Formats: sequence, C-alpha cells, structure tokens
Amino acid sequence: MITMEKIVSLSKRRGFIFPACEIYGGFANAYSYGPYGVELKNNIKKLWWKTFVYQREDIVGIDGPIMLHPKLWEASGHTTGFNDAMIDCKKCNKRFRADHLIQESLEKDYEGDLDKMNEVINKEKIKCPQCGSFDWTEARNFNMMFKTEMNGIEEDIYLRPETAGAIFVEFKNIIDSMRVKLPFGIAQIGKAFRNEIVAGNFIFRTREFEQMEIEYFIDPKMKWEPLFEKWLKSQEEFTIALGAKKKDLRYHEHPKEKLSHYSKKTVDIEYKFPFGFSELFGLAHRGDFDLTQHSEFSKTKLEYLDTKTNKKYIPHVLEPTFGVDRALLVSLIAAYREEKTKEGTRTVMKFPKNLAPVKVAIFPLLRNKPKLVKKAKEIFNDLKEDFVCEFDDNGNIGKRYRRQDEIGTPYCLTVDFDSLDKKDVTVRDRDTMKQERIKIKELKDYLKDKLQ
Ligand code: ATP
Repeated sequence: MITMEKIVSLSKRRGFIFPACEIYGGFANAYSYGPYGVELKNNIKKLWWKTFVYQREDIVGIDGPIMLHPKLWEASGHTTGFNDAMIDCKKCNKRFRADHLIQESLEKDYEGDLDKMNEVINKEKIKCPQCGSFDWTEARNFNMMFKTEMNGIEEDIYLRPETAGAIFVEFKNIIDSMRVKLPFGIAQIGKAFRNEIVAGNFIFRTREFEQMEIEYFIDPKMKWEPLFEKWLKSQEEFTIALGAKKKDLRYHEHPKEKLSHYSKKTVDIEYKFPFGFSELFGLAHRGDFDLTQHSEFSKTKLEYLDTKTNKKYIPHVLEPTFGVDRALLVSLIAAYREEKTKEGTRTVMKFPKNLAPVKVAIFPLLRNKPKLVKKAKEIFNDLKEDFVCEFDDNGNIGKRYRRQDEIGTPYCLTVDFDSLDKKDVTVRDRDTMKQERIKIKELKDYLKDKLQ
C-alpha cells in the first residue's frame, strides 16, 4: 500500500523534497525541492506550457508580478472576502479550520457559512481531535492574504493569493498587442501565497505554492457548456499525463447554493491521495465578474471589439486552474511501486519518461579501471548534450540500479570490458529490467526513440 510516509521518506532520502530549514527545527510546514524535485517540477511545468500554450493557437502566455496594485484585490473581492474560518481549542491551543473540523467528524460541508459552523460544532459537541476536549473559541473569519509594505507606497501590499489577478490586469495589453480573437486564453505559471490556517499533508497544502492558470475568454452569447466539458477533459488528460489513473479521479460540482454569485458552474477535480479524495485542480465559469470589476475600479474599459459586428462587449471567462505542487505530489504517488524481484523487493518510481528527473545514467562497471571510467565519461559527455544524464561509479552495479530505480531513471548504461572491444554498452530498462547490448554510436538515436 502506498502511504504518505513512504512518499515523504523517499522524497527526502532521494533528494526530491526536503522539509525547509530543518537545521533550525523546520519552518511552518514549508518544503524545499531538492535536485530531483526541481527537475520533476520543471518537467511538469514544461509539459503544461507545451500542452496549453505551444500546442494551441488560441492561448498566449504571460509572467506577471507577485506584488500587484492594491486596488486589484479590492476589485476582486479578496481584501474583504478571501477568508477561511478559524477556531482554536482553548485547552490545548491547537488551531483548526472550522469547516475541515466539521467535514472530518460529520462529513458535511459548511464552508463559507460561519453561523452554521458555530451552531453545528456546539450542537454536535465536536471534540478537539488533538486533546479530546470540548472547549472552543468562536469560529471567526481569517483573511488569508499575506500583507507587506513597499517603499513609497502608503497602502498595504499583498502577496498575490492566486496568479489570476495578474492575468486580468493584462487583458487590454494582450488584446492590443497580440491580434487575439475570441475565444482565447492567457496562461501563467507562478507563485501564490496564502496564509493557510493549517498547512499540512506534505506539499498538498503549503502557504507558498505554485499555480498554473488560464483565463479563457469567451463570447457571452456562446453556448458555453460544451466548452466547459472540453476543458474538464483537457484537465483530466493532463492529470493522466502525470501518471495518474482515471479510476483515481472524481469530480465534485459545487452545489448552486455554494457558488459565488457570478459563477455559472464550478467543478473540482479530485484525486485519491493516500489521505482521501481531495481537490487537485479546479474549473470555474466566472462570468464577466473579473473584467467588469477591474473596469470599474481602474476606470479602464476592458472590452473586446467583435470585428464582424463592430460591437464591443465584456467577454465571459472560464478559469481552469492547476496547482503545481499538487500535480507533483500526484506524479510521485502514481509513480511509486514496490516490486518483488529475484533479489528481494525493489522500490521503483515509474514516472512517465518525459517527466523523469534524470533520463540516462552511465556507469563504468568498475571505478578502479581507468579504461572503463574513461570510456564511460566519454559517453556521458556526449549524451549530456541531448539528455539529462548522471554519471555514477559508486558501489556495485546492483546498488547503482536501485538508486536509479528510486529516482525513476528510465535507462541505465553500463560500460564493461566487452565495451572496449565491441564498442557497445549494456542498456537496462527501468520498467522491465531487461538488458540489451547497443552499439555506442547508435546510442543517441536509440535513446531519442525510446524517450519520445
Ligand atoms: P482548497 O479547497 O484545497 O483550499 P481552493 O479551492 O482554495 O483549495 P483554489 O483557490 O481553487 O483552491 O486554487 C486553485 C488550485 O491551487 C487548487 O486546485 C490547488 O491545486 C492549488 N492550491 C490552492 N491552495 C493551495 C495550497 N495551500 N497549497 C498548495 N496548492 C494549493
């Protein structure tokens, strides 16, 4: 069985993800991506950009600032409405999200309804999961935006709690500079910050994270439902490209009474994490709320000119949003295997090959034979031009295979004594563990073909 403990332990042991600031006792459930984690993360972001920007003619990319004009957050409603409900146990001082507390004990969702949450906690006598007492403060709203200051600016500045804001404020510049025609999208990848009441479940919920978001603008008169379904399908396909199985996905449509007044439909794509089904990505129809608000607050018309009818209007928007860190967590969970072999159990990360942090590992059979080391180095230097490669001469071959299996390297090449005469190497496949001899001069084509 795959547990979070196994994923967390492998991530640390093999240089994917470390608890941040561990030498200072850790800090606020924050994590650092290690050498293989950053490769995996970059590969996920590259795949997303390729899928949604390069391979489409209707989406363009931007990269906006983290600290944006303070008025933007008034317009979007974040300064007043970006709240979660917080509650503290007076006995042990442990803090909880009130809606999660209720969800976990009654499996009911009252997110957003503070009065109801207070009523239910008292009526059902929900106890503190930490110390078992029933002695709560009132549940109260807590704004999750991080506040900071900026030289020369009087107002409070916020670290953006989502990347979307930076997209809406560039709508006019994109229209004016890019010859885009509706429907079209603007995509962005970047950091977002939320002062979560409780961070946890490893990198699932942190206070600093990354998002990949698209604002997809549409004609308000168009029949949007088929497009909404198409976006859901694209999000599902991307999740499957991370290595996830369809059976581990489910959709949660927000009930009408919980939808924001401007949203026609919102669906969460949930994944079966080891701690249960939880939100991975989301898709929302946001109407014309954002562009209308920003038009009003900025006093700049954010309209689209339909050249066929010569009429101007504010488009509606569909918003597919993807969390980078949750995507990466899915790729780790979906790749993790424990397999029985003749030598015992091996742990192997069967990442889709395009996501694997290292594509090829090159070993000399023995580290104390200069001729083998020289040949292996030559091959490494040649292949590293085209693939992310690793040279390893440490320990016996079995140990080196085990290490590469645990970081998910698809191919390991071994240079042995025969290689010197026959000019070939052994190539071992991560998934089948089968080995074959390949001529050194054919290696690049062989690997290019296999790694496509
Ligand atoms: P949740 O209900 O889990 O708090 P949310 O509904 O607030 O999530 P959105 O506002 O829809 O999340 O954010 C879009 C995406 O950003 C989420 O689907 C998720 O992938 C990611 N995300 C949101 N909050 C966090 C977080 N604290 N840590 C890591 N990823 C996050």
